[in-house]
Amino acid sequence: MKKITDLAQLAKQLETLTAVCKNCGTCQAACPLFPHTGMEKDIARGKIALLKGVMSEVVTNADTVLKRLDNCLLCGACKSVCPNRVDTLQIFLSARSLMAGYQGLSPAKKFFFRQVLARPWLFDALARMGTMAQPLFFKKSDADLDTRSPRFVMSPFLSDRHVPPLAPASFRREWVQQEKGAAEATPGKRVLFFTGCLIDKVYPQVAAAAIKALRHHGFAPVLMENEACCGIPALSSGDDNAFFRLMAQNMKQIGKMEFDLLVTACATCAFTIKKVWPMMAEKNSAQADLAEKIADRTKDITQVIAPLIAPPAGKTSADSVPVAYHDPCHLKKSLGVFREPRLLIEAGPGFRLTEMAAPDACCGMGGGFGITHYDMSKKIGESKKQNMLNTGCRVVATTCPACMIQLAGLLADASQADIPVRHVIELYAESL
Ligand code: SF4
Ligand code: SF4
Repeated sequence: MKKITDLAQLAKQLETLTAVCKNCGTCQAACPLFPHTGMEKDIARGKIALLKGVMSEVVTNADTVLKRLDNCLLCGACKSVCPNRVDTLQIFLSARSLMAGYQGLSPAKKFFFRQVLARPWLFDALARMGTMAQPLFFKKSDADLDTRSPRFVMSPFLSDRHVPPLAPASFRREWVQQEKGAAEATPGKRVLFFTGCLIDKVYPQVAAAAIKALRHHGFAPVLMENEACCGIPALSSGDDNAFFRLMAQNMKQIGKMEFDLLVTACATCAFTIKKVWPMMAEKNSAQADLAEKIADRTKDITQVIAPLIAPPAGKTSADSVPVAYHDPCHLKKSLGVFREPRLLIEAGPGFRLTEMAAPDACCGMGGGFGITHYDMSKKIGESKKQNMLNTGCRVVATTCPACMIQLAGLLADASQADIPVRHVIELYAESL
């Protein structure tokens, strides 16, 4: 629980941020929740209306405020269309911090964010144990999509989900042990590759592909020995205490390293490092300067590779595989990156882009939303699934590991066993 003075400060900040909203309602059409609920209270305008005069609402109506704030994918679609530049993401994140500060967090969340995520060695060890135990709790549900569904004992918690398996080991930990010395002596523009938790522990092949592509283009990639989570899961749950710790822990290590670019293959990590760290760093401090410097040098992997390639001439539809690309919200709506992944798909001789309808519509994952609001997450994903299938694609590609989980789950649900979901950089690295 936070001190009353901290809560009052957060409430004051929220009142300033929400005052910019002019109730125009432009955000209604963009919100992925609205077509399913038809409720004003679910869109940004409705949430902001509730948050104006937030302290009295919190005291009299805490559960309603919490429920409405939780019913949000933090996709940023409202922010991207708002003509009045209302920073809805900052508003929703600050409001969640205020609510968690007022009501407290569950012991499980506190333990995970503060004890596990802040200790990379412990997180790696627990993930390794999870890898060993997963055959007890999950069975293979789809060989081509490589998804698992819960065995009976887990079904009440995971219902009919299809999830990818945990990797045998942390990619970052193994890479640092095997390659750190040689990598540091390699000539070339130095790239600090920020692995991200999901790529490290669920999709290590994406990190391997990114490193292969970086090396192919003459970069010298290095990884952080003790990279911690970027902090966004903690902040999204209102635990700003854990977020500040994770951000500071990462920034301390990054500040000591020599590098030209910080590159990630996770759209959410890129968004967090570029936008959220500078937003949350203590104003007018050395930390704020460092956060800005890091943000300036941070890029998504596709932004680094795309300017260095030219699409091959003479590719025909007969000898290339059609790929449908899904734009992750954090990459397109928050960072404005959407051309580069498409260029990478077209660059190799083996793949060609086939656009789906509404490629930038949210897939429904929304980080923790896909866990806490599974039914709504599936409903939002339904049109994404149809749009993917309507293209006749043979591969679905994206640039965010959380979206990969959701898209694979949607396709496994539709028994589309022959449409694998892959990261764009994997497709590109195959052509090298
Ligand atoms: S679009 Fe922006 S200004 Fe208009 S209602 Fe939504 S948040 Fe408010
Ligand atoms: S962040 Fe996304 S889900 Fe949340 S209110 Fe804005 S558009 Fe709707």
